Amino acid sequence: MAPESSTDTSPATGTEPRPAGYRQPEVDVPALTRLLDGRYGEVRDLVRTNLAAYASVLEEAEQLDRDAFRDRVRDLLVEMAGTGQTGMGFPTEYGGGGDLGASIAAFETLAFGDLSVLVKVGVQFGLFGGAILQLGTKPHHDAHLRDLITGRTMGCFAMTEVGHGSNVQALGTTATYDPDSQEFVVTTPDPSSRKDWIGNAARHAELAVVFAQLDVGGTGHGVHALLVPLRRDGEVLPGITIEDDGLKMGLNGVDNGRISFDGVRVPRENLLNQFADVTPDGRYESPIDNPDKRFFTMLGTLVQGRVCVGGAGINAAKVALAIAVRYGDRRRQFNAISDEQEQLLLDYGMHQRRLLPLVARTYALHVAQEAVALELHEIFTETEAPEEGENDHRRRELESQAAGLKALGTWHATRTVQECREACGGQGYRALNRFAALKADTDVFTTFEGDNHVLLQLVAKGLLTDYASEFEDLDQFGMVRFVAGLAVETVIERTAVHTLIERVRDVLPGGDEWDQEAGLLDTDYHRMMLRFREEHMLSGVARRLKRGIDDGMNPGEIFSRVQDHVIAAARAHVERWVLDAFVDKLAGLDDGDQLVALNLLCDLFALTTIEADRGWFMEHGRLSSQRSKAISREINDLCRKIRPLAVDLVDAFGVPPEMLRSPELVG
Ligand SMILES: Cc1cc2nc3c(=O)[nH]c(=O)nc-3n(C[C@H](O)[C@H](O)[C@H](O)COP(=O)(O)OP(=O)(O)OC[C@H]3O[C@@H](n4cnc5c(N)ncnc54)[C@H](O)[C@@H]3O)c2cc1C
Repeated sequence: MAPESSTDTSPATGTEPRPAGYRQPEVDVPALTRLLDGRYGEVRDLVRTNLAAYASVLEEAEQLDRDAFRDRVRDLLVEMAGTGQTGMGFPTEYGGGGDLGASIAAFETLAFGDLSVLVKVGVQFGLFGGAILQLGTKPHHDAHLRDLITGRTMGCFAMTEVGHGSNVQALGTTATYDPDSQEFVVTTPDPSSRKDWIGNAARHAELAVVFAQLDVGGTGHGVHALLVPLRRDGEVLPGITIEDDGLKMGLNGVDNGRISFDGVRVPRENLLNQFADVTPDGRYESPIDNPDKRFFTMLGTLVQGRVCVGGAGINAAKVALAIAVRYGDRRRQFNAISDEQEQLLLDYGMHQRRLLPLVARTYALHVAQEAVALELHEIFTETEAPEEGENDHRRRELESQAAGLKALGTWHATRTVQECREACGGQGYRALNRFAALKADTDVFTTFEGDNHVLLQLVAKGLLTDYASEFEDLDQFGMVRFVAGLAVETVIERTAVHTLIERVRDVLPGGDEWDQEAGLLDTDYHRMMLRFREEHMLSGVARRLKRGIDDGMNPGEIFSRVQDHVIAAARAHVERWVLDAFVDKLAGLDDGDQLVALNLLCDLFALTTIEADRGWFMEHGRLSSQRSKAISREINDLCRKIRPLAVDLVDAFGVPPEMLRSPELVG
């Protein structure tokens, strides 16, 4: 894709001299920031201004004791709410901004700052507020939205239990309808059913959205959400016990707690009844008959939380890169080239190799995140209600993309923060320089809002079934049987990859030898490689599932045995989709230096992704050892080309200088 090779269709070795006329592009930083900020530049700028205004919280996180810091974080949340920053996703009639896309942009940008503030905001407005908005109806909105948007009512989202986190359908808390009093009785039947890790619970929440097994007239209807008051005037209410989850690895400004309910009674109207209701005389009613479909439809409306956490992980990675790249451009070690002066770290090939592919991947993930956020905005604000027909497929695809990108974005954050810390040497270890908090606070992003490995299984399930209408009804066993019932070719033909491969194969030179003939910087070659990997892995999973069923094995056992392939296929799918999103975005840009610079990043992302899985490509006959070595050389060359742009590229992330904190590191 880089200009000098785009017309080169000869077998590439990566060692070709740069053609005459190659000119190093220059980056217009404000223009690139505008491009990255997209349609929500003003929203992101408002958050940047607020982050700068409240920058002292970074220091307070280190200095205040735990309770004082938690209260400080709560106060900050209320102050930020006063600027409109945190209520953008709520309807205007309740004082919100009426723009879901804006609320995601605001949340992502907040991840440049202290992450306890971010997570507290996520719990209050995303989880608690989002559940009331999406699962509740007008009476709930009228009663609570205005006050929760301002932070007057603090709340929590009580789903996870000691015994069950990922498997939400197996929660133990019960909500039993009593028609005589027209109340639900909420109970924690055993210690493993205590709600656990509930943000805002230990200190501040007055009201909780509690997920519980609904029992009406002795019949279980599965997990539903209802509102349960926890405190009044700061005092925990009778029948409720709250323990503090205590000191955590990070995010200590968030008061996570355990909650138990001992026959707590709440009015019938407290059931969040968007998808199901109970009549006063005790009849259960829902427009969605299938309990699994109902459950997944309910959870699907909460997809925004996942999109937000993925975006936050990507933005936290930007902070780490902004610090480490700038440091690499100032810090000198060893007289490597000249006796006169020691060399800048970022002029070392290895330093470039460590940091610049991470910059490229961050850009790629950013673009994919923008696409998911936009899709969510459109689906939730411009189309029909979730339970209605054709829109279902699009929603399921969105849920899958959100799950996949959340997994890749948060793993990327963990990896990037560590690499950047090391790249700053001993200075990186000083708490002042942000890495201590970044490491501790981003770590759990891989777990909450869905554990990454569990989420990737969801992605694979969607792919294998092509988000069929049966998709939501299928448990693991059902899914294995469903896939086993199809021909392997059918599984593949139903996926988008198949048709895309045909299309790309047509434009690549060399026919069946495309993998040998195409130029290493040919975008179609990159796309083809990632599509080939995805298709091959998916068909491999389908084949294994079928073989297991044919051999009479238990479906659960089969699934467990192929789980590593399932995860690999899902990851391959998400990486392919991220590359496509990046390529598509660039295809819409005008020619010029900005496009040249972004093309370099896109090439670097694609080639490092192939290189990272070179063993697989070689095992499957798509990469000769000669070409594999050429890819590594090409990557080094791309790093050298990107090196002069590196500081501008991270400056364009637009991390407020106050959030970079240390003048020693970043100048
Ligand atoms: C700081 C923090 C804040 C939180 N805030 C909230 C909150 O406000 N509200 C709330 O409701 N919850 C909250 N949570 C809970 C969080 O959502 C759960 O921890 C998360 O969903 C994972 O569940 P778990 O801890 O039970 O892990 P488990 O589900 O037990 O997973 C443990 C490990 O087992 C693996 N695993 C699980 N199932 C499978 C499988 N089928 N196949 C293969 N591997 C598997 C996972 O990959 C993981 O590595 C929070 C958690 C933390 C730590």
